[in-house]
Amino acid sequence: MSRSISGIISQLTLEEKAGLCSGLDFWHTKAVERLGISSIMVSDGPHGLRKQKDAADHVGINESVPATCFPSGAALACSWERKLMEKVGSALGEECQAEGVSIILGPAANIKRSPLCGRNFEYFSEDPYLSSEMAANHIKGVQSQGVGTSLKHFAVNNQEHRRLSVDAVVDERTLREIYLSSFEGAVRQAQPWTVMCAYNKINGIYCSENEYILNSILKEEWGLDGFVMSDWGAVNERPEGVKAGLELEMPSGNGAGDRKIVEAVKNGSLSEKELDKAVERILNIVFKAVENKKENPSYDKELHHQLARAAARECMVLLKNEDDILPLNKYGRIAVIGDFARVPRYQGGGSSHINPTRIDDFLSEMEASESIRANISFAHGFYLDNDEISPELINEATEAAAKAEVAVIFAGLPDRYESEGYDRKHIRIPENQRLVIEAVADVQRNIVVVLSNGSPIEMPWIHKVKGVLESYLGGQASGGAVMDILFGDANPCGKLAETFPAKLSDNPSYLNFPGEGDRVEYREGIFVGYRYYDKKEIEPLFPFGYGLSYTTFEYNSISTDKKSMTDLESLTVKVRVKNTGKLTGKEIVQLYVRDIESTVIRPEKELKGFEKVELAPGEEKDISFNLDKRAFAYYNTEKKDWVVESGDFELLVGSSSKDMALRTVVYVSSTTVMKKLFTKNSTIGDILAYPAGAVLAQNLLKGIFGEGDGSADVLGMDAAAMVKDMLLRTIVSFSGGQFTDEMLDSLLKELNG
Ligand code: BGC
Repeated sequence: MSRSISGIISQLTLEEKAGLCSGLDFWHTKAVERLGISSIMVSDGPHGLRKQKDAADHVGINESVPATCFPSGAALACSWERKLMEKVGSALGEECQAEGVSIILGPAANIKRSPLCGRNFEYFSEDPYLSSEMAANHIKGVQSQGVGTSLKHFAVNNQEHRRLSVDAVVDERTLREIYLSSFEGAVRQAQPWTVMCAYNKINGIYCSENEYILNSILKEEWGLDGFVMSDWGAVNERPEGVKAGLELEMPSGNGAGDRKIVEAVKNGSLSEKELDKAVERILNIVFKAVENKKENPSYDKELHHQLARAAARECMVLLKNEDDILPLNKYGRIAVIGDFARVPRYQGGGSSHINPTRIDDFLSEMEASESIRANISFAHGFYLDNDEISPELINEATEAAAKAEVAVIFAGLPDRYESEGYDRKHIRIPENQRLVIEAVADVQRNIVVVLSNGSPIEMPWIHKVKGVLESYLGGQASGGAVMDILFGDANPCGKLAETFPAKLSDNPSYLNFPGEGDRVEYREGIFVGYRYYDKKEIEPLFPFGYGLSYTTFEYNSISTDKKSMTDLESLTVKVRVKNTGKLTGKEIVQLYVRDIESTVIRPEKELKGFEKVELAPGEEKDISFNLDKRAFAYYNTEKKDWVVESGDFELLVGSSSKDMALRTVVYVSSTTVMKKLFTKNSTIGDILAYPAGAVLAQNLLKGIFGEGDGSADVLGMDAAAMVKDMLLRTIVSFSGGQFTDEMLDSLLKELNG
């Protein structure tokens, strides 16, 4: 405890200390003026600032001050671009400074377990490594401006259905490898000033009073220096929360939680020391926020808008481009169909809903463009605010399409289809949109569909269209960014951060989402997203990591600085990638690791590195990756640690999770001593697999079954396999007195050392 803060704490009354552990109101912490403790403001988050001046709410209903709406998390992750995340974060930080906000509530690093989760548009990925890298750089960017972040929602908050009461039942290995990993990298790399605990329970205990998650893992193991705040209304029992490591209750509990803390200290169920620790963590950040406030802060709205547009261009994913239908001819005859071209869907609903400084829609951008001289006809296509099917609108669309050289249909999910607070029930676009696509396909062969949605959709119409651009929820400048890509002023360079399944029922969580009553079991375990589709050999509509460009890339050589290493060393992997097309473009080079042989069940491969590289036509570059122990490890629940099993690992490098251009193998030897305690119920196979045991076991078999090659000689090849599963105690009974209980005891003594 630094002297000044400990000095301040010693002057606080018990009531003041308890008071500091909950909000003043919806968005502020409390001040204690006599001791120089200021009140600071927090606001949503994550991809724009939602600062409310007047009426407050946590679901995005009331007005907030204008701010730049950047692409949502789902879109930003498709950029796979750390520097971009940092830039966007830094712009968010500037806007917070300008508005006097000390902590922005984000980023949101929950894993996309199911495409149905209503909040997937805020989350980054189905893969924990990609998600944590994106979150870490978002945090670095914001905090570079002297503004804090609140990494949320910690943890295992992967659905909106009953989000305040549901118990996420998840095994420890899955928790560690998938759901916590997504936060771990971000905490370790970027030290968010705060972390927001989720509403739900994990394995029976509310996150807001989950000591294992908050104290043991987040603070002791990962080293979070800052404090934990509750999601809005996530506190169950306040004193239990303080004990477990939940420092700040948000929003204000009108004194109820504070009184319970005071009572608990007085009756001895909570020690004042524990309360002091909580206050210390809060004050450290409050003082940091105050010290970092800039004088006369402001930001350039135009520059931030341009950054939002540049970011959107980096995020959008070209999913299909048959016959090179894109880029479009700048002088062509184009039918633009669908109201999203006029009224873009660029952000999601709920607490992240931003009041944008400006909105660019595709049609107005086209009108304003000086370089694009296309002859545009527009048809509404469908209603946006309801699902009614309108034959007139469909007619109007087909008429426009028939007269044009190409039809560009703006489709996707209307606001009401996905939002914080509820999940989707299916992954289809509205029927009135599907029918327009089908009808236009009857009269026009050249169709490009531009999609606006925060989460995957099914595309039963995919074979009827030549082009698909997934623009996700691309932020306030998405209309201009779509235009830049459609007409080739920007080369698409995003790749999917999640799998698009061919149908919902292919998704691994399908049978157990959203659970029964207040219990959802994560029975698919570690097999989330591509980890499942790979293992089950299920062909997705579009795989994780997939995305096209207007140019082509060739993957050439792969090399490593070692062929063999221990798990304490790190490995450098180099690959050479060349732009073999005619345009400058960016490629996202992905590195996956596969454990060739393992005694535990592992995914086919896992993402452990990625780099986005820009290449001019004909240019080639070497890209380096660094892999350490974690890239080869799995979480061992007995050891309660990350463990590498000695053996060969394959390194796979390519342009998507389904397209591995380069492979090499490296041998990693483990430094973890896996001490096994043998008993009379251990198998022969267990002993054979244990280096020191192998000789003993072979001698034992020879002793019983005679010389030669042991069991195989006597029992034949199949029997040899069976012997492996025999228990030591059964050998006593089967050996006809040759192997006695005493001999078994002395063998066990020798084995167990
Ligand atoms: C959301 C959080 C948000 C908070 C404050 C909650 O409902 O889950 O993400 O930061 O409200 O608006």
